[in-house]
Amino acid sequence: TYRALRVLKDEQGTRAELQTLPVTDLPGGDVLIRVTHSSLNYKDGLAVSGRPGVLRTHPMTPGIDLAGTVIEDASGRWQPGDHVILTGWGIGERQDGGYATLARARPEWLVAQPGGTDAHWAMSVGTAGFTAMLAVMALEDHGLTPGSGEVLVTGAAGGVGSTAVALLAHAGHIVVASTGRPQEEAYLRDLGAAQIIGRDDLPGLTRPLEKERWAGVVDTVGGATLAGAYASTRTHGSVAVCGLAGGHDLNATVFPLILRGVNLLGIDSVTCPPARREAAWTRLARDLPVSRLSSVTQTRTLDEVPALAAQILAGQIRGRTVIQID
Ligand code: NAP
Repeated sequence: TYRALRVLKDEQGTRAELQTLPVTDLPGGDVLIRVTHSSLNYKDGLAVSGRPGVLRTHPMTPGIDLAGTVIEDASGRWQPGDHVILTGWGIGERQDGGYATLARARPEWLVAQPGGTDAHWAMSVGTAGFTAMLAVMALEDHGLTPGSGEVLVTGAAGGVGSTAVALLAHAGHIVVASTGRPQEEAYLRDLGAAQIIGRDDLPGLTRPLEKERWAGVVDTVGGATLAGAYASTRTHGSVAVCGLAGGHDLNATVFPLILRGVNLLGIDSVTCPPARREAAWTRLARDLPVSRLSSVTQTRTLDEVPALAAQILAGQIRGRTVIQID
């Protein structure tokens, strides 16, 4: 048997419950993994709280991230004892995910734990940190270099935002962190932010083109925040669009694209191809060692997840939350 946090849906509504299940209840997939750690992302908050749009069927084990050890792999690609990381690919959405002591997955979904790191580190990065890395790589691929100018991170005290601040500062960029929590200023400065601006003090959107300011943007908020940032992006600068914590609308014109050559870049961590995944994890291991992530991370247990889910939806979680499974 194995233990899992299940989200159930019946006449009484949707609820999350810890259950003990037979191993035969696991989904398909050649690789059987002993899960030691998972993490809490905004999407997990939605799934565990029974919000529509994340879980495709019920009952389902949420958890879009997991790290652990291979028990067996029918494909032969992984060996028993291999330390692996799995984020995205629909786990915790379309197929049972990381909030369980066992998981099954396809071999090509897994990434080997980078040397010198462990499962706790991997989950303190998790989908949020991996997404931040993809966003920084996308900005760099489109010409952002240290010296290009100020780089804005929105939702900076959240999981994606905190990791993006740390990665950008490490790479030598001038990071401007936008947050709705002024009490997190010291935390963000510690991660390397050069300047903190209040959520409501960001240049807004009054015209299709605002005064040019940002050489690059990592946006986790969407809505009016994204619209304002996009209209304030400098000529040939780029905006990496990651999230919708503040709304999914995009009220915008084509003018920044066609008059400033601004690049609007979509980031999707779930379907990121294997080669780019490995490149991102290798760089995360190099640029975000345990010592740099410890101030960003809290560690909690599986039975605390329902309460934590409500907190992340309320924007009350700072940085990253690792869920200890075993
Ligand atoms: P998180 O830890 O909750 O961070 C979100 C942050 O957004 C909050 O900490 C808060 O930052 C800010 N925020 C929350 N509500 C807001 C509001 N109403 N208006 C303005 N700002 C608000 O969540 P996360 O795990 O980092 O995820 C962030 C976003 O990225 C989510 O929308 C998530 O779905 C998305 N995401 C996308 C991908 C992808 O592949 N594209 C991957 C991971 C996450 P402050 O307190 O600092 O203001």
